[in-house]
Amino acid sequence: MLYIRKKRTPDAIEKTVDEIKKTPGSGYEEIHVPEDSQQLRALFDMMPKNDLRNELYKEQHGLCAYCMKRITGQQSDTRIEHYKALSTDKKAALDYQNFLGVCYGGEKGDKVDSGTSCLCCDAARGEKELTINPWNKRQMEAIGYYKKTGEIFVRQDVGLGIDLQKAMQRDIDDVLHLNGEKDSAGRIKWDTRSKLVASRRCICDSVCSQFERWSKKGILTADFLQDKIEKLEEKLRDDNIADEYIGVRLYLYKRKEEKLRRKH
Ligand SMILES: [Zn+2]
Repeated sequence: MLYIRKKRTPDAIEKTVDEIKKTPGSGYEEIHVPEDSQQLRALFDMMPKNDLRNELYKEQHGLCAYCMKRITGQQSDTRIEHYKALSTDKKAALDYQNFLGVCYGGEKGDKVDSGTSCLCCDAARGEKELTINPWNKRQMEAIGYYKKTGEIFVRQDVGLGIDLQKAMQRDIDDVLHLNGEKDSAGRIKWDTRSKLVASRRCICDSVCSQFERWSKKGILTADFLQDKIEKLEEKLRDDNIADEYIGVRLYLYKRKEEKLRRKH
Protein backbone atom coordinates (compact mmCIF):
# COMPACT_ATOMS: atom_id res chain seq x y z
CA MET A 1 0.00 0.00 0.00
CA LEU A 2 1.17 3.50 -0.80
CA TYR A 3 0.24 7.00 0.21
CA ILE A 4 -2.18 8.57 -2.29
CA ARG A 5 -2.19 12.32 -2.67
CA LYS A 6 -5.84 13.08 -3.39
CA LYS A 7 -6.31 15.78 -6.01
CA ARG A 8 -9.10 18.31 -5.81
CA THR A 9 -12.32 17.22 -7.46
CA PRO A 10 -12.17 18.03 -11.19
CA ASP A 11 -14.62 20.83 -12.08
CA ALA A 12 -16.45 18.78 -14.71
CA ILE A 13 -17.12 16.01 -12.18
CA GLU A 14 -18.31 18.46 -9.54
CA LYS A 15 -20.68 20.01 -12.07
CA THR A 16 -22.13 16.64 -13.09
CA VAL A 17 -22.74 15.70 -9.45
CA ASP A 18 -24.62 18.96 -8.89
CA GLU A 19 -26.73 18.26 -11.95
CA ILE A 20 -27.48 14.71 -10.81
CA LYS A 21 -28.56 15.93 -7.38
CA LYS A 22 -30.77 18.64 -8.88
CA THR A 23 -32.36 16.49 -11.59
CA PRO A 24 -36.12 16.52 -10.99
CA GLY A 25 -37.11 13.10 -9.74
CA SER A 26 -33.61 12.16 -8.63
CA GLY A 27 -34.98 12.07 -5.10
CA TYR A 28 -31.53 12.90 -3.70
CA GLU A 29 -32.83 15.13 -0.93
CA GLU A 30 -35.16 12.46 0.39
CA ILE A 31 -32.66 9.60 0.31
CA HIS A 32 -31.79 8.00 3.62
CA VAL A 33 -29.13 5.35 3.99
CA PRO A 34 -28.95 2.46 4.43
CA GLU A 35 -32.58 1.86 3.43
CA ASP A 36 -32.35 3.81 0.14
CA SER A 37 -28.89 2.54 -0.83
CA GLN A 38 -30.17 1.11 -4.10
CA GLN A 39 -31.61 4.46 -5.16
CA LEU A 40 -28.37 6.16 -4.17
CA ARG A 41 -26.39 3.65 -6.21
CA ALA A 42 -28.54 4.47 -9.22
CA LEU A 43 -27.47 8.13 -8.83
CA PHE A 44 -23.84 7.10 -8.45
CA ASP A 45 -24.21 5.07 -11.67
CA MET A 46 -25.16 8.31 -13.44
CA MET A 47 -21.70 9.73 -12.73
CA PRO A 48 -19.16 9.84 -15.61
CA LYS A 49 -17.45 6.58 -14.65
CA ASN A 50 -14.88 6.58 -17.46
CA ASP A 51 -13.66 10.02 -16.42
CA LEU A 52 -13.61 9.02 -12.77
CA ARG A 53 -11.59 5.88 -13.49
CA ASN A 54 -9.15 7.83 -15.57
CA GLU A 55 -8.64 10.44 -12.84
CA LEU A 56 -8.08 7.75 -10.22
CA TYR A 57 -5.70 5.89 -12.53
CA LYS A 58 -3.53 9.00 -12.87
CA GLU A 59 -3.80 9.97 -9.22
CA GLN A 60 -2.71 6.47 -8.15
CA HIS A 61 0.00 6.04 -10.79
CA GLY A 62 -1.77 3.06 -12.34
CA LEU A 63 -1.91 1.00 -9.13
CA CYS A 64 -4.75 -0.49 -7.08
CA ALA A 65 -5.12 1.61 -3.93
CA TYR A 66 -4.94 -1.45 -1.70
CA CYS A 67 -2.75 -4.11 -3.32
CA MET A 68 -0.63 -2.10 -5.85
CA LYS A 69 -1.61 -4.41 -8.70
CA ARG A 70 -1.83 -2.71 -12.10
CA ILE A 71 -5.03 -0.89 -12.95
CA THR A 72 -5.37 0.82 -16.31
CA GLY A 73 -8.37 3.05 -15.68
CA GLN A 74 -10.49 0.88 -17.99
CA GLN A 75 -13.65 -0.77 -16.76
CA SER A 76 -12.12 -4.19 -17.46
CA ASP A 77 -9.68 -3.95 -14.55
CA THR A 78 -10.54 -0.83 -12.54
CA ARG A 79 -13.33 -0.52 -10.04
CA ILE A 80 -14.41 2.70 -8.34
CA GLU A 81 -14.32 2.03 -4.64
CA HIS A 82 -16.22 4.06 -2.03
CA TYR A 83 -13.81 4.36 0.89
CA LYS A 84 -16.75 5.19 3.13
CA ALA A 85 -19.25 2.59 1.97
CA LEU A 86 -22.14 3.90 -0.11
CA SER A 87 -24.67 2.43 2.29
CA THR A 88 -23.22 4.35 5.23
CA ASP A 89 -22.67 7.88 3.95
CA LYS A 90 -25.02 9.61 1.52
CA LYS A 91 -22.86 12.68 0.95
CA ALA A 92 -19.69 10.66 0.35
CA ALA A 93 -21.49 8.39 -2.11
CA LEU A 94 -21.19 10.96 -4.92
CA ASP A 95 -18.02 12.66 -3.69
CA TYR A 96 -14.81 12.21 -5.68
CA GLN A 97 -12.86 12.74 -2.45
CA ASN A 98 -14.28 9.43 -1.23
CA PHE A 99 -13.25 7.42 -4.30
CA LEU A 100 -10.34 5.03 -4.81
CA GLY A 101 -9.37 3.10 -7.91
CA VAL A 102 -9.07 -0.58 -7.04
CA CYS A 103 -8.62 -3.93 -8.77
CA TYR A 104 -11.35 -6.58 -9.00
CA GLY A 105 -9.58 -8.60 -6.31
CA GLY A 106 -9.71 -11.83 -8.32
CA GLU A 107 -13.45 -11.66 -8.97
CA LYS A 108 -12.93 -11.47 -12.71
CA GLY A 109 -11.06 -14.00 -14.78
CA ASP A 110 -10.68 -17.75 -14.46
CA LYS A 111 -12.68 -19.46 -11.77
CA VAL A 112 -10.31 -20.94 -9.23
CA ASP A 113 -11.26 -23.35 -6.47
CA SER A 114 -12.16 -21.13 -3.53
CA GLY A 115 -10.55 -23.70 -1.23
CA THR A 116 -7.06 -22.79 -2.41
CA SER A 117 -7.19 -19.02 -2.90
CA CYS A 118 -9.18 -16.03 -1.73
CA LEU A 119 -10.47 -12.70 -2.97
CA CYS A 120 -8.75 -9.50 -1.93
CA CYS A 121 -9.23 -5.72 -1.88
CA ASP A 122 -12.78 -4.41 -2.40
CA ALA A 123 -14.01 -7.86 -3.42
CA ALA A 124 -13.03 -9.16 0.03
CA ARG A 125 -14.01 -6.03 1.92
CA GLY A 126 -17.61 -5.55 0.84
CA GLU A 127 -19.11 -2.75 2.93
CA LYS A 128 -16.94 -3.20 6.02
CA GLU A 129 -15.55 -0.06 7.56
CA LEU A 130 -11.78 0.43 7.36
CA THR A 131 -9.26 2.01 9.70
CA ILE A 132 -6.38 1.71 7.27
CA ASN A 133 -6.44 4.66 4.90
CA PRO A 134 -4.24 5.23 1.82
CA TRP A 135 -4.77 9.02 2.11
CA ASN A 136 -3.13 9.00 5.53
CA LYS A 137 0.58 9.61 5.06
CA ARG A 138 1.56 8.66 8.60
CA GLN A 139 -0.25 5.35 8.30
CA MET A 140 1.24 4.58 4.91
CA GLU A 141 4.76 5.28 6.14
CA ALA A 142 4.21 2.49 8.65
CA ILE A 143 3.64 -0.17 5.99
CA GLY A 144 6.39 -2.75 5.65
CA TYR A 145 7.10 -6.06 3.87
CA TYR A 146 8.88 -9.17 5.13
CA LYS A 147 11.78 -9.88 2.82
CA LYS A 148 11.50 -13.66 3.16
CA THR A 149 7.75 -14.11 2.70
CA GLY A 150 6.55 -11.01 0.88
CA GLU A 151 4.01 -10.53 3.64
CA ILE A 152 2.71 -7.00 4.26
CA PHE A 153 2.71 -5.72 7.84
CA VAL A 154 2.32 -2.59 9.95
CA ARG A 155 5.57 -1.56 11.59
CA GLN A 156 5.67 -1.36 15.37
CA ASP A 157 8.65 0.98 15.50
CA VAL A 158 7.18 4.14 14.00
CA GLY A 159 5.05 5.36 16.89
CA LEU A 160 1.53 4.65 15.61
CA GLY A 161 0.40 3.22 18.92
CA ILE A 162 -0.53 -0.40 19.48
CA ASP A 163 -4.30 0.00 18.97
CA LEU A 164 -4.01 1.72 15.61
CA GLN A 165 -1.27 -0.64 14.50
CA LYS A 166 -3.41 -3.68 15.36
CA ALA A 167 -6.51 -2.25 13.70
CA MET A 168 -4.56 -1.60 10.51
CA GLN A 169 -3.08 -5.10 10.55
CA ARG A 170 -6.57 -6.56 11.02
CA ASP A 171 -7.76 -4.62 7.97
CA ILE A 172 -4.81 -5.91 5.95
CA ASP A 173 -5.27 -9.54 7.01
CA ASP A 174 -8.95 -10.06 7.71
CA VAL A 175 -10.78 -7.41 5.69
CA LEU A 176 -8.69 -6.77 2.56
CA HIS A 177 -6.95 -10.17 2.58
CA LEU A 178 -3.68 -8.68 1.35
CA ASN A 179 -1.79 -11.60 2.87
CA GLY A 180 -4.08 -14.26 1.45
CA GLU A 181 -5.70 -16.60 3.94
CA LYS A 182 -3.89 -17.31 7.19
CA ASP A 183 -4.23 -20.32 9.50
CA SER A 184 -4.88 -20.06 13.24
CA ALA A 185 -1.13 -19.79 13.89
CA GLY A 186 -0.94 -16.74 11.62
CA ARG A 187 0.90 -18.50 8.82
CA ILE A 188 -0.14 -17.97 5.23
CA LYS A 189 -2.32 -20.90 4.21
CA TRP A 190 -2.98 -19.84 0.66
CA ASP A 191 -2.44 -16.83 -1.56
CA THR A 192 -5.04 -14.51 -3.07
CA ARG A 193 -6.52 -15.35 -6.43
CA SER A 194 -4.42 -12.54 -7.91
CA LYS A 195 -1.27 -14.05 -6.31
CA LEU A 196 -0.39 -11.01 -4.26
CA VAL A 197 1.94 -12.66 -1.78
CA ALA A 198 3.84 -14.53 -4.49
CA SER A 199 4.17 -11.37 -6.58
CA ARG A 200 5.55 -9.38 -3.66
CA ARG A 201 7.90 -12.24 -2.76
CA CYS A 202 9.16 -12.13 -6.32
CA ILE A 203 10.07 -8.45 -5.90
CA CYS A 204 11.77 -9.25 -2.59
CA ASP A 205 13.89 -11.94 -4.26
CA SER A 206 14.80 -9.58 -7.07
CA VAL A 207 15.86 -6.88 -4.58
CA CYS A 208 17.94 -9.36 -2.59
CA SER A 209 19.86 -10.47 -5.68
CA GLN A 210 20.33 -6.83 -6.68
CA PHE A 211 21.85 -6.12 -3.25
CA GLU A 212 24.19 -9.10 -3.66
CA ARG A 213 25.24 -8.01 -7.12
CA TRP A 214 25.81 -4.39 -6.11
CA SER A 215 27.64 -5.49 -3.00
CA LYS A 216 30.03 -7.71 -5.00
CA LYS A 217 30.73 -4.81 -7.31
CA GLY A 218 31.41 -2.64 -4.27
CA ILE A 219 28.84 -0.02 -5.24
CA LEU A 220 26.21 -0.72 -2.56
CA THR A 221 26.41 2.44 -0.48
CA ALA A 222 23.79 4.61 1.20
CA ASP A 223 24.26 7.32 -1.44
CA PHE A 224 23.96 4.81 -4.27
CA LEU A 225 20.67 3.57 -2.81
CA GLN A 226 19.44 7.09 -2.12
CA ASP A 227 19.75 7.74 -5.83
CA LYS A 228 17.76 4.58 -6.62
CA ILE A 229 15.10 5.59 -4.08
CA GLU A 230 14.72 9.00 -5.67
CA LYS A 231 14.27 7.40 -9.08
CA LEU A 232 11.48 5.19 -7.74
CA GLU A 233 9.83 8.10 -5.95
CA GLU A 234 9.86 10.04 -9.21
CA LYS A 235 7.49 7.41 -10.59
CA LEU A 236 5.06 8.28 -7.83
CA ARG A 237 4.96 11.94 -8.75
CA ASP A 238 2.54 13.86 -11.01
CA ASP A 239 0.68 11.59 -13.41
CA ASN A 240 3.56 9.13 -13.82
CA ILE A 241 2.78 5.43 -13.98
CA ALA A 242 4.69 3.21 -11.54
CA ASP A 243 5.69 -0.47 -11.65
CA GLU A 244 3.30 -2.90 -9.97
CA TYR A 245 4.06 -3.46 -6.26
CA ILE A 246 6.60 -0.61 -6.34
CA GLY A 247 6.03 -0.06 -2.61
CA VAL A 248 7.84 -3.31 -1.83
CA ARG A 249 11.04 -2.34 -3.63
CA LEU A 250 10.88 1.15 -2.19
CA TYR A 251 10.51 -0.17 1.34
CA LEU A 252 13.43 -2.60 1.05
CA TYR A 253 15.70 0.04 -0.51
CA LYS A 254 14.85 2.49 2.27
CA ARG A 255 15.54 0.04 5.08
CA LYS A 256 18.84 -0.99 3.52
CA GLU A 257 19.81 2.63 2.97
CA GLU A 258 19.13 3.42 6.63
CA LYS A 259 21.17 0.41 7.70
CA LEU A 260 24.12 1.42 5.54
CA ARG A 261 23.93 5.00 6.78
CA ARG A 262 23.93 3.91 10.42
CA LYS A 263 27.09 1.89 9.82
CA HIS A 264 29.03 5.01 8.87
ZN1 LIG B 1 -6.17 -4.66 -5.40
